[in-house]
Amino acid sequence: MNLAILGATGSIGLQTLDIVRASEGRFSVVTVTAHTSVDKLRAIIDEFHPSYVAVGLESAMRDLQRDYPDVTFGHGSDGLVTAATAGPTDTLVVNAIVGSAGLEPTIHAIKAGRNVALANKETLVIGGELIMPLLAEHHVRLLPIDSEHSAIMQLLDGAKHDTVRRIVITASGGSFRDKKRSELTTVTVGDALAHPNWTMGAKITIDSATMMNKGLEIIEAHHLFDLPYDQIDTVLHRESIVHSLVEFTDTALLAHLGEPDMRVPISYALHYPERVPFDGTRLQLETLGALHFEPLDEARYPMLRYAREAGVKGGYAPTVLNAANEAAVQLFLSGKITFLQIEEIVLQCVTTFQPEGPLTLPGILEVDNEVKDYVLKAYS
Ligand code: NDP
Ligand code: MG
Repeated sequence: MNLAILGATGSIGLQTLDIVRASEGRFSVVTVTAHTSVDKLRAIIDEFHPSYVAVGLESAMRDLQRDYPDVTFGHGSDGLVTAATAGPTDTLVVNAIVGSAGLEPTIHAIKAGRNVALANKETLVIGGELIMPLLAEHHVRLLPIDSEHSAIMQLLDGAKHDTVRRIVITASGGSFRDKKRSELTTVTVGDALAHPNWTMGAKITIDSATMMNKGLEIIEAHHLFDLPYDQIDTVLHRESIVHSLVEFTDTALLAHLGEPDMRVPISYALHYPERVPFDGTRLQLETLGALHFEPLDEARYPMLRYAREAGVKGGYAPTVLNAANEAAVQLFLSGKITFLQIEEIVLQCVTTFQPEGPLTLPGILEVDNEVKDYVLKAYS
């Protein structure tokens, strides 16, 4: 099968390439994209020989063109759209880009009839209302890579929609799960990046510490599984062994367990509807000991409430929430604001920006830009 891997140089992108290597010739990587990591990109081109490659900047593209005359190159947002639509129609598009930049290529991939394996949750958060009807219209499959959503998809397999009472998304709690709010005033970027259970890109690691990641995942689940928000719960589960649960109307509660390893949901999405062997660490129940579940307190983690409220409002509200968060996380990572200011900025933006009108792709891109510009200018 042909693969187009968008965001191939990131944490999910590189783990997708691990699955390709382990699959011994089953996949052919025809397209890859990177944004700034040109050295990693060169290594990927040398090993996988894609025919189309896109990067962020035109200058980087020119350098690459000189060294790889047989490869077609593109850059910027046009390059991403071409990457999502180039190659044979049976190409599976793996979207492992971080942030709202993933939306346009996802929409174009669907319109071009490509199935999509989606790690880029921001795509569904801001564009879910557009994407879900498009999937039906173009007979395209959207396979979640996010571990919780992959787990829920597997648990729901074959279930009738009206037999589901609720889904429960588990949260590890991120780097600051043992800190009180009063202790968060002095935490550093380094502290926030030290996730207890997962090694991931910087943005999602900060989102896990603020709990925005779980907020985004609630909205992602609402769209993917067509469930109202009052049927989507979260629970704190420190061990990250139970990846999520589904409760049915007969009180049966099904859970998906496994060692935390993103290559498992990636492999599931790539091979769907088949399930193939994966040589990962197997969970040893005999030595596992106890699993813990605690309520997720919205007073401790206000981002959960902001996200849920934006999701319920719908329209452009999730775009404002997500853009404010992306810009604030960028400011935090570059040392310009404190950890708790991320929340303050998100709250300020969801209160100030309330765009109306029908949801469209140009509208989402405009609101996304406007909110990010506002935040970056206000705090730089
Ligand atoms: P990384 O930061 O590790 O990688 C992001 C990728 O996107 C890189 O290839 C990067 O390119 C590229 N990229 C960054 N900005 C842009 C842009 N503006 N335009 C185009 N490409 C861009 O992120 P992760 O792999 O951690 O996360 C990717 C997505 O998957 C996110 O949406 C995240 O929420 C989701 N996810 C990640 C998990 C994980 O374990 N990492 C788990 C579940 C979901 P370059 O490096 O070349 O600059
Ligand atoms: Mg997740």
